Amino acid sequence: ALTAGIVGLPNVGKSTLFNAITKAGAEMANYPFATIDPNVGMVEVPDTRLARIDQILPAKKIVHTTFEFTDIAGIVKGASKGEGLGNKFLENIRQVDAIVHVVRAFDDDNITHVNGHIDPLDDVETINLELSIADLDSINKRYAKVEKVARTKDKEAQAELAVLQKIKPVLEQGGAVRSIEFTKEEQRIVKGLFLLTSKPVLYVANIAEDDMAAPQDSKYYQQIKEYAAKENAEVIGISAKTEEEIAELDDEERQVFLEAEGVSESGLDRLIRASYHLLGLATFFTAGGTETRAWTFKQGMKAPQVAGVIHSDFERGFIRAETVSFADLDQYGSMQAAKEAGRLRLEGKDYEVQDGDIIEFRFNV
Ligand code: GDP
Repeated sequence: ALTAGIVGLPNVGKSTLFNAITKAGAEMANYPFATIDPNVGMVEVPDTRLARIDQILPAKKIVHTTFEFTDIAGIVKGASKGEGLGNKFLENIRQVDAIVHVVRAFDDDNITHVNGHIDPLDDVETINLELSIADLDSINKRYAKVEKVARTKDKEAQAELAVLQKIKPVLEQGGAVRSIEFTKEEQRIVKGLFLLTSKPVLYVANIAEDDMAAPQDSKYYQQIKEYAAKENAEVIGISAKTEEEIAELDDEERQVFLEAEGVSESGLDRLIRASYHLLGLATFFTAGGTETRAWTFKQGMKAPQVAGVIHSDFERGFIRAETVSFADLDQYGSMQAAKEAGRLRLEGKDYEVQDGDIIEFRFNV
């Protein structure tokens, strides 16, 4: 499964946030808590469409789809030179598909900051610089090799060399590969380089509880937001401490608490949703059987591949996907009415599944 890695300087609230994630995961009704890697926290992806589908096509139970976060220990200045557990951090980051970058955005004299003062921009740049340096090292290693092959007029090597030449000056300035525009062909080459700064990133401003209702009023949040805008990255304001406290509450108690704080949704739910989209993930549903269930697929997948998310037999024996969109089912209010309106589609093997599709797969066994 695709996973988002939680990174940040020491003492910014990563463990607190990760605890909130594991506690929320432990509350999941349909997933008896499996003993997995202690650094991996599994959560349900909140989705209000499930309840509506279950209302129209009642089943015995509702099953959410899940998402995984990976806790990556604190990174320090000099990590790219092996400081702290430097190389290990970088290796751990290399394994994840997206980065959730936690930045301290609260004042609290009792909590030491590694640099002695709160400066979100400096913090963000410290980490991003380490990642840029690590990428520059890998590019430089690759460069000499590829340059040599390119001289033999090897087309593939020439294309890669051009990409390396495009990337190198950006990294030398401490920039990120994700900030560079690439053609489709270049993107394919970049993917093969496994660079840290090419991974999609989401910034989490760990704000004070008092700022929960209006994160935009926090100057720290604003600073991170401006920085992230330059990378086209999103920022989410979360009070990690509060999230940890409310993760154990039941849904109703949590709702009461959040309303009192003046927010409609927990920070954790916003984080899960944003991370899910950051990874290009989308949801389809199965219904009408014993359970109403959400499943995850990667945007762009065709129907047979998506069928394989449920079971490899479904992919192998795929015949067609009987599909109705959530919007149509919601509007017509019953499967029969949607069908009469011509909204139930028979889709074949080239159909690109859309977020919100409710599908019944037909397959040969
Ligand atoms: P990590 O090193 O990044 O994993 O940081 P921790 O999660 O261990 O947090 C470091 C310290 O900051 C702990 O004492 C936390 O209780 C505290 N902390 C974390 N989040 C918040 C917050 O939102 N507000 C305040 N005041 N303290 C926090």
